[in-house]
Amino acid sequence: AFSTGHSVLNTYLDALVSELAGLETGEIATYIPQLGLADPKDFGIAIATADGRFCKAGNWDRMVTIQSVSKPFMYGEALRRFGRDTVLTKVGVEPTGERFNSIVLDEANNRAFNPMVNSGAIVTASLLAQDTAARNETSMVDLFSRLAGRRLSIDEDVFASEHETGHRNRAIAWLMLNSGMIEPDPDLVLDLYFKQCSVLVNCADLAAMACTLGTFGRQPVTGEQVFAPEVTRDVLSVMTTCGMYDYAGQWLYDVGLPAKSGVSGMIMAVIPGHMGIAVYSPKLDTVGNSVRGIEVCRRFARDFGLHACTNA
Ligand code: GLU
Repeated sequence: AFSTGHSVLNTYLDALVSELAGLETGEIATYIPQLGLADPKDFGIAIATADGRFCKAGNWDRMVTIQSVSKPFMYGEALRRFGRDTVLTKVGVEPTGERFNSIVLDEANNRAFNPMVNSGAIVTASLLAQDTAARNETSMVDLFSRLAGRRLSIDEDVFASEHETGHRNRAIAWLMLNSGMIEPDPDLVLDLYFKQCSVLVNCADLAAMACTLGTFGRQPVTGEQVFAPEVTRDVLSVMTTCGMYDYAGQWLYDVGLPAKSGVSGMIMAVIPGHMGIAVYSPKLDTVGNSVRGIEVCRRFARDFGLHACTNA
């Protein structure tokens, strides 16, 4: 179990940021043009603990779009609203081993493979896009805000950029419409999907959101029970097997924590029962994971003996 004091942890994180700032490999994602404007030097870490405290280092306060790290929260909301059985008819829990935006579907079951790849996230958004675009947006931003413990908002420029260039996601949505996996209207579904990806967070927000998943759905600062423990168990399970793109197997082997990354360079990881951690650094490896983010989590898990498959 994890029992280090907060000041020790702050010192540890500061040292990690200084040391890993020298790690300059990787490329910033440019396929969504607005993401290409990120500063390659930015590097921040935050940890939120179950008792509602934070440790922060580097550029932890940089506001960045959440991108795919939104997917677990939307999946949790779909489970909360519709229950496991209904959600499972639309999206499974098997890793694909394919790229996050691949156009592969679980045809045997007429559903998406899992909610962490784009197809599965678009199906999940379709379950949650049952109202007008404005009301869908409001309830999504409300949910993310309650998870973070403060008011969040959308980056309209990133949303517009993604809306304009997201042809591949559009293709996935229409393909799924064709096979009856999503309900009409795909435009409404994609509107919500692009908006959920465009919510602005800093590392402390994301660490608090991760911690909420880790503490059985109870937000560590406000005390609100946002999700039931059955929901967070399912969300963390799918993050564990599918959260790190096509690096998920190696990640579990090396780091051993439920996690999710996004193309903006954010990674969140959860130490169940204890804390959430978020790392931001925009340069990505070839799979699409933040290079420094991966290294921070690998060191952290190793140095504190956090791998889920050890009983340290
Ligand atoms: N909005 C991005 C997309 O759908 C999210 C991708 C990601 O972060 O993996 O292309």
